[in-house]
Amino acid sequence: MFLTDLADKLRAYRDSDGEGLTVVEVDGWQYRTFDGNGMAGNVGVIHHHTATAESAYAYSDCPTLSLLVNGRSDLPGPLCNIAFGRSGTVYVVAAGQANHAGRGQIPGVGYENLGNYYTIGIEAESSGVRDDWTEAQRRVWPHLGAALDEAYSGGDVYYQVGHREYSYDGKIDPSYIDLDKLRDDINTNLTGGITGATQTTASGMNAAVDEGDWLSMATKEDVKNAVREVLNEPIPRAGGEKGNTSLIAEAAWRTSRDNRLEKRLDVIGSRVFHLWTDLRLGVSGRVSDGALGSVFRRLGYAPDEAKRAETFKANEKKGWL
Ligand SMILES: [Zn+2]
Repeated sequence: MFLTDLADKLRAYRDSDGEGLTVVEVDGWQYRTFDGNGMAGNVGVIHHHTATAESAYAYSDCPTLSLLVNGRSDLPGPLCNIAFGRSGTVYVVAAGQANHAGRGQIPGVGYENLGNYYTIGIEAESSGVRDDWTEAQRRVWPHLGAALDEAYSGGDVYYQVGHREYSYDGKIDPSYIDLDKLRDDINTNLTGGITGATQTTASGMNAAVDEGDWLSMATKEDVKNAVREVLNEPIPRAGGEKGNTSLIAEAAWRTSRDNRLEKRLDVIGSRVFHLWTDLRLGVSGRVSDGALGSVFRRLGYAPDEAKRAETFKANEKKGWL
């Protein structure tokens, strides 16, 4: 089935102040589908973040839009049914099946590996590596969830899950969103609760640019940019020395010290891979160890987990960690 009433349903929603969502219809959304098929059902929503470089938000409310609509050569679009902009604007992308869920299931419910067929995918604009959600996104999001529930639950249970809850593949999105709180707020809205459904900043569809997604869409360059930011964060100096250094300075010191330059990546990439392999660098509060690992794997680097664990233990013994 094609959810051709999606835009109207979203527009029909009212918060307790009588305010509605700001809805933009992306041309052709009524016919847009991933593989020619409509959805097999509509039992809920999977919430995602786009993981788009933060710099893109300076000039567009929804810089990932064109990628979400079109996908790319190795990842056919549409990649969501709804895109959720920085201003709280709701972009209706596809009425048919979207390519967003991947392998997984709704926890405790099922629909195993059928997320694309049975759930609406919302891609919310955020870098995913930092809590950069806007006030408008946090405020409007539970209204968007409530609007979909109101439109499609038919009074039955309607599931609202994060991709990280659904996925078998270590997805982390949506980062920095408390999903239990999101569900609570959605429920409050459904029983006539909180206000603030409208966006605050007037912002339409600016030039949509093709930006890569962190986990499901990252290019090598995206990964480098994201880790570069993390690498330059101050960390306490190793070896009991006083003061702060950065991961990159620490990596340079270690690389020159043991001369084990990883040749397969460029200099910065190699230092990250090295740190990740030897020090089990999860990027705390940002990208989990497992997530970084899956990025490296997708980029074609296949760490030997047993050897990595061994190195980690040895380093731990030497007191490096
Ligand atoms: Zn996702």
